[in-house]
Amino acid sequence: MENILKHFPQKAKEVEVENKKFFAKLKKKPPKHLDSLMQELHEEEFKRTDCLTCANCCKTTGPLFTDKDVERISKHFRMKPQQFIETYLRIDEDKDYVLQSVPCTFLGADNYCSIYNVRPKACREFPHTDRKKFQQISNLTMKNVEICPAAFNIVEEMKRLLNK
Ligand code: SF4
Ligand code: SF4
Repeated sequence: MENILKHFPQKAKEVEVENKKFFAKLKKKPPKHLDSLMQELHEEEFKRTDCLTCANCCKTTGPLFTDKDVERISKHFRMKPQQFIETYLRIDEDKDYVLQSVPCTFLGADNYCSIYNVRPKACREFPHTDRKKFQQISNLTMKNVEICPAAFNIVEEMKRLLNK
């Protein structure tokens, strides 16, 4: 995985234009079976992917923390929500709570998440490739393929199957 991650940004750059065209077309006319196709591609890819050898999402980008996330995680630490916010979070340009720094503070040296059972919703759902109406999150997906090898492979497979 180390080797894949090293060459990954370049690989993602090479398909950027192609992906833009693909997603523009997908948005205009999504196939009827898109939800089930995404479910299938997501499951197949994550059977092959060992996130513990990667953790690139936790190392390079952080999740948004919803109010519910803050409530749940601060309770886990027996902290007051405000104290948790002041210790770990900041407000970004979209007025969302995000981590003060990356790699994520809760990521261990062994790539395990130390708050796995109470982790933010955004972490549980990343890279969102099994989401319904997948065509609606094209812009986010184009960013995610630059950091997530699994999302990259899923989009490549989508292109192979739908561009026939
Ligand atoms: S979700 Fe993607 S970026 Fe995150 S650890 Fe798994 S393969 Fe890596
Ligand atoms: S909270 Fe856990 S899963 Fe989410 S970015 Fe941090 S280490 Fe990764």
